[in-house]
Amino acid sequence: MKYRTVKKYTSLQHMNVGPFKIKQPLPNDELQQVSPFLLLHHGGPQTHAPGEIKARLSPHPHRGFEPVTFLFSGKIHHKDSTGNEGFLQTGDVQWMTAGSGIIHSEGPSAAFAKEGGEMELVQLWVNLPREHKMTTPKYQDIKKENMPVVKEKGFQLSLVAGEYKGLKGPAFTFTPILAMMLQFEDEGETDILISSSYNSLLYVLDGEIETDNVLFEKYNLGVFEKNGDGVLLKAKKGGKALLLAGEPINEPVASYGPFVMNYPGEIKQAIMDYELGKMGVLES
Ligand code: MN
Repeated sequence: MKYRTVKKYTSLQHMNVGPFKIKQPLPNDELQQVSPFLLLHHGGPQTHAPGEIKARLSPHPHRGFEPVTFLFSGKIHHKDSTGNEGFLQTGDVQWMTAGSGIIHSEGPSAAFAKEGGEMELVQLWVNLPREHKMTTPKYQDIKKENMPVVKEKGFQLSLVAGEYKGLKGPAFTFTPILAMMLQFEDEGETDILISSSYNSLLYVLDGEIETDNVLFEKYNLGVFEKNGDGVLLKAKKGGKALLLAGEPINEPVASYGPFVMNYPGEIKQAIMDYELGKMGVLES
């Protein structure tokens, strides 16, 4: 296997959403997107005292893309304007298709807020191709026990979407995507085959990984060149990471707040549709 070379990004934007501390490795100062991946938000790891969390993220709309939540620790309760409601536990993933428009509210479950504990998650925005931007909104609850797990040389790979070693991740995606949650021990090693046309990235949440002789520490983002059949990952210090790869969507991107479309006029339309209640209603 010829391995891909990598470029490291260390710039992070920090923000607070209520009591939650969020880091944003993508987009960053140098990089707008790694198509089809538009945005990465890393929440936590953060330990919340019992009763400390008073509020959830209030209901807000999305259109034109898919917000995906990888829950590394904690408990989340989700509800949306299509009537879906879900609970996520540590290791679960929620793959939501905003499509033509959805209003949702997300946050720790009432029990978690009361009891407190550790919360850590990554929210990823996956773009939709033009032909599916206005698809009917839907929601996939992906339980940890339904994800195939590959264990090799100190690495544990949980397959969320796409195919790997004859196994298939449970998530349905509109464009071809490979998404894995990685856990690794000191001195672990794995190589992952990636389709030659896919863009690919690595985000380290904790620990240290070396690839292409470049060391990635926690909160570092690596974007691979499309110059090999896969990536070789060597763990220098145990931890966890996300590996994402996908067929790029070669279309214009116009984004504003919670909407991602192709052209500015479609953003205006989205704002209008939201204000007219066309994305549904959700009580907070
Ligand atoms: Mn949201």
